[in-house]
Amino acid sequence: MPHHRLSLCKGHFVEWFEKHTEKTIKEFKMFTKNDKILVAISGGKDSLALWYVLRKLGYKADGLYIHLGIGEYSERSKEKVYKFAERIGGNVIIVDLKEEVATIPELVKISSREACSVCGLVKRYNFNKVAKEKGYNVVATGHNLDDEASALLANILNWNEKYLGRKYPVLEEEEGFVRKVKPFCKFTEKETALYALLNGIDFIEEECPFSEDATSVFYKEILNKIEERSPGTKLRFYLDYLRKVYPKFKKEEDKKNLEPCKVCGQPTMGEVCPVCRLKEKAGVPLTG
Ligand code: SF4
Ligand code: ZN
Repeated sequence: MPHHRLSLCKGHFVEWFEKHTEKTIKEFKMFTKNDKILVAISGGKDSLALWYVLRKLGYKADGLYIHLGIGEYSERSKEKVYKFAERIGGNVIIVDLKEEVATIPELVKISSREACSVCGLVKRYNFNKVAKEKGYNVVATGHNLDDEASALLANILNWNEKYLGRKYPVLEEEEGFVRKVKPFCKFTEKETALYALLNGIDFIEEECPFSEDATSVFYKEILNKIEERSPGTKLRFYLDYLRKVYPKFKKEEDKKNLEPCKVCGQPTMGEVCPVCRLKEKAGVPLTG
């Protein structure tokens, strides 16, 4: 790991990874052993590794899997999730989008948004809704350093000031929203993949078919090229943002103006939340 000036054997890498997960959780005051954590799991390496390590560290963590209805990809990822939950004896909550709203391919047809945008919207909505309904006070996602740094780069290239005040590894609980945390924000994608492999975690390796032309993949490649030339740049880019830039752009008023959606009660800016509007478009009866 040239960016940390470290070379570790298998055993010490696992130890290092777990110690640093705990360190990040404490540094950002993400949660404690008393919190009820819901881990958003997709069947991929990051989310399964996160669920695994949190349980190993003694946290109360259950899984939430959202079946997106993206053909074979979703079927295979569901299989991985079921098998993994069985292996670790973990409790997993399943939300089937087909029953809730409509599948992602169906939603893409009726929405003006791109696939990943509509998918992100529906996923975030369900993370919060399920956590609230089932009594979890924290939602944890497996976003890693590559995810965070590439999103940061994309937003800097567009000088998206609003975003620069929002992208923090902890989003505190507020009116209608549970706390959201990203305990892997300092680990590279390679590190989470290695941890998953060394622990025999059977994750889905294929990418979602909608991700092929995602701009984020392109930005990740660019950052990896920079990293190859100057190890440590990616981590420094992200950590310096958290330390120097985020505090300047953070605005309290962003959190205001949220009202419960008139249909489902989830917090939203307008009268009816975007997911209920999507439901309406999809011809799903609206119920509170
Ligand atoms: Fe959803 Fe896009 Fe991720 Fe596929 S790549 S699961 S559509 S966010
Ligand atoms: Zn709603």
